[in-house]
Amino acid sequence: MGFVVGLTGGIGSGKSVVAEQFAAKGVPVIDTDRIAHGLTAPSGAALPALRATFGSGIFDVAGRLDRAALRELVFADAAERKRLEAILHPLIREESARQLASVTNAAPYTLLVVPLLVETGAYRDHLDRVLAVDCAEETQLRRVMARNGCGRAEAERILATQAGREARLAAADDVIVNEGELSALTPQVDHLHRLYLGLAHHEG
Ligand code: ADP
Repeated sequence: MGFVVGLTGGIGSGKSVVAEQFAAKGVPVIDTDRIAHGLTAPSGAALPALRATFGSGIFDVAGRLDRAALRELVFADAAERKRLEAILHPLIREESARQLASVTNAAPYTLLVVPLLVETGAYRDHLDRVLAVDCAEETQLRRVMARNGCGRAEAERILATQAGREARLAAADDVIVNEGELSALTPQVDHLHRLYLGLAHHEG
């Protein structure tokens, strides 16, 4: 397996916009959030285990996963959250490994987006480098409220379940600051892309 950079950051920090910029340079991007979404979409591989564990209350009448109901359940109760993670995380790891293995040898390095890298400690053994996207918590809150159309209390509740900035920065080899204009990302991504090309080349 080639050189793998783990991209992490709190909700609303700007992981997706940063990942898009790397993708635009031809870097393969594997997103564990997208994988999780696929596992829980209609006919997703996680659905039987979710139904067996949480019952039909988290499914709508059409048999689709009721994401809002599931979110409510796990936000209210840390033990339920653990049960959910015990189902999803191994499946996400398996699918990530499959996708990483299928990345073409022509790719200089791969970006693996792991929102909860710091919280779960997962994937660390598979990563050559950890990149954190950082911004003030106030900025995260503002973006989450705007994007999700939720209130401040809801946004704060989500942030409270995640690691804080300091823990994330401590775990990172590299940091992208995403506080201002989107255009401020470009030189940072350019710089890191060159760095990773060099590191990957050196290792490979
Ligand atoms: P994450 O993937 O970390 O949750 P996103 O990349 O989805 O974060 O960014 C959260 C929201 O904030 C999105 O709607 C995105 O378009 C917006 N956003 C991110 N960075 C900036 C920025 N520098 N300026 C303006 N809007 C931004």
